[in-house]
Amino acid sequence: MTDEHASGKGSVQRHWVSLIPFGLHQQHPNNYKDILDAVWENRDSLGYAYRILRDGCCDGCSLGTTGMHDWTMKDLHLCWVRLQLLRLNTMPAMNWHRLEDVAPLRAMNGKALRKLGRLCVPMIRHRGDRGFRRVSWEEAIRLIVERLRATDPHRLGWFLTARGVTNEAYYAHQKVARFIGTNHVDTSARVCHAPSTVALKETVGCSATTCSYEDWIGADLLVFVGANPANNQPVTLKYLYYAKKAGTKIVLVNPFVEPGMERYWIPSVAESALFGTKLADDFFHIHVGGDIPFLYGVLKHLIEQGWLDRAFIAARTIGWEDLASKVRAMPWESLERGAGVTRSDMSRFAQTFGKARHAIIVWSMGVTQHRYGTDNVKAIVNLQLARGNVGRPHTGLMPIRGHSGVQGGAEMGAMPSAYSMDYPVSDQNAALLAMPEFWGFQPPSWKGLGAAHMILAAERGEIDALWQSGGNFLETLPEPDRVRRAFGNIGLRVHQDIVVSSTMLEDPADLVVLLPSRTRYEQRGGGTETSTERRIIFSPEIPGPRPGEARDEWEIPVLVARQLDPERAAKIFPWRDTRDIRQEIERVCPTYKGIAALHKKGDQVQYGGPRLLADRFGTQDGKGRFTPIDLPEETIPAGRFFLSTRRGKQFNSMVGAEVDPLIGAARDAVLMATEDAGRLKLDAGDYVTLRNELGEYRGRIVIERVKPGSVQVYWPEANAVIPAGRLDPCGIPDYNATVEIISASG
Ligand code: SF4
Repeated sequence: MTDEHASGKGSVQRHWVSLIPFGLHQQHPNNYKDILDAVWENRDSLGYAYRILRDGCCDGCSLGTTGMHDWTMKDLHLCWVRLQLLRLNTMPAMNWHRLEDVAPLRAMNGKALRKLGRLCVPMIRHRGDRGFRRVSWEEAIRLIVERLRATDPHRLGWFLTARGVTNEAYYAHQKVARFIGTNHVDTSARVCHAPSTVALKETVGCSATTCSYEDWIGADLLVFVGANPANNQPVTLKYLYYAKKAGTKIVLVNPFVEPGMERYWIPSVAESALFGTKLADDFFHIHVGGDIPFLYGVLKHLIEQGWLDRAFIAARTIGWEDLASKVRAMPWESLERGAGVTRSDMSRFAQTFGKARHAIIVWSMGVTQHRYGTDNVKAIVNLQLARGNVGRPHTGLMPIRGHSGVQGGAEMGAMPSAYSMDYPVSDQNAALLAMPEFWGFQPPSWKGLGAAHMILAAERGEIDALWQSGGNFLETLPEPDRVRRAFGNIGLRVHQDIVVSSTMLEDPADLVVLLPSRTRYEQRGGGTETSTERRIIFSPEIPGPRPGEARDEWEIPVLVARQLDPERAAKIFPWRDTRDIRQEIERVCPTYKGIAALHKKGDQVQYGGPRLLADRFGTQDGKGRFTPIDLPEETIPAGRFFLSTRRGKQFNSMVGAEVDPLIGAARDAVLMATEDAGRLKLDAGDYVTLRNELGEYRGRIVIERVKPGSVQVYWPEANAVIPAGRLDPCGIPDYNATVEIISASG
């Protein structure tokens, strides 16, 4: 790739993939078909669907839009993810009688359950009942309150999903949870970017992306580590197209050569739609979990060559000497063995990186979903600090988020360790929030549990009540049988949601309550989300149908608080709509200054401005911290393969297509390197069983450019062979495992 680009420099065609129009001869997504599918799927509500697209802020990933535009480019901003999610917003109410018997529903997959329609009435199911029974809101709330009164708050968990939920709803939920007395509050950010939040906070003093998307365009270098935005944040490819035009080099570090990041046919850019665009200039094929040794190897070269920003290191950081002496002492053999690439590969990266005037590193779950995910992120920070790549234009640290609510959820305090991003959980902050001008009640200051730990605690019988707003632990957490066992110990489960999920259908230990919720577009007074680049974006209420008795997402927990303690709740939750909540957020969360003024389409405020940390870091002494992390020990027993997971055409665990359009593989694919398939005498299409101590997974071999010694399989299907209890210190499960491979032919 590199040579081709060098030789073609200056010509328009140098980024073209092929002269065959529309890449008709190659495997890639057909975005035009996605548009037609969306039109067909939403044919009963086209006007409403169009208004959502035209005026709403996308509820898919966290790039963030206003209608079908953004703040990075003038072009259309729309992708298949948003089109696929659209139906969740436009579907009519379901026939709730279907829930009166759960047995037939249990045979349905997630997609079929969602297609039943929107949840529209509150329902309850007691232990031993065949199915759910319709109840009034009053009765549902009364039953919940009755049980919560009898529950020790240390045994109450509160979980919120990250798709579509607005900042106002996160804020309301976590405040109610703390009003009731628990700090076991979390969002699905726990299983994606919790390591980024922790590592960035500890090293640079802020947990958010330090730059803006517009910094990509014109940067000397953009590095993607363990990320596949082609699938998860599709419109980024358009940003990459403009970055290429501006001369930006793109480098990938990953155990799989992701074809969508290598080249793409961007449907709304005529040149790219016709001839495709080569995106990646270079690729580094590391082992699964080889990030730290690779990044250390690069750092070792930077030190040896003197490609460091010494002035920046001296003026703005601490800990360099400790790190540098650790790196100098590291033998190349162990770095090469751990990284899976050679010293000269690392040198090639170091040359590009060390000579770039500015570079941005973007990472995602290939980096975070390890038991050493936090250390992985710290290794990235080490590299960027060594080159002074923070705070200047076209430099930065970017943990790219996959869901529209991930950033805001944590910042609004829907996490065990903070009441809001400005107030970490502590006795001092609890006392501060107790003052009348803040919350007017003292929240708990004990250490709460993250999502995965809550379920492990439930398995031990330590959780009596669990509120879940969206989410689907049965599909998202490893070892579903253990999740099922955990649910068997939880007396009260409240599921607040917009559609039916498989988790809701699990038998109650005592009582399960379903509460129908509205989407962000239905919420009175609209709502806000915070994008990856820290932009707080207003999404207006969109006129259209409303399903049955569904209520605003923020309002439902508040109904519980008002019934639980009417007198105090009247003062503590005086909100009439989301505007009132935004006013309170502005008061209680100084970083979100400006949120109260957001009230119409297009309104937004990017907290901190385009770039953070330009003059000082967010740590107490204002210095960035180098971290001399240890090399992770990954031993693969003889005869085993390293298994990691990938996403196809899906959003979180919601699978939208049986074939991954980027590589043409079915959901049961076991991606394997040519060398390994040859050694095991396997051909494409052969059935194999992946087996370890936890269970088995059956799939079919697809020969792909994965790192030899490893296989990739689709998630969440592979959860049965992924261990539940192996967590990074921040609480994210390690979504990798070792497996033996048994050919079906013996
Ligand atoms: S890239 Fe993300 S924000 Fe943009 S339209 Fe797609 S899902 Fe929505």
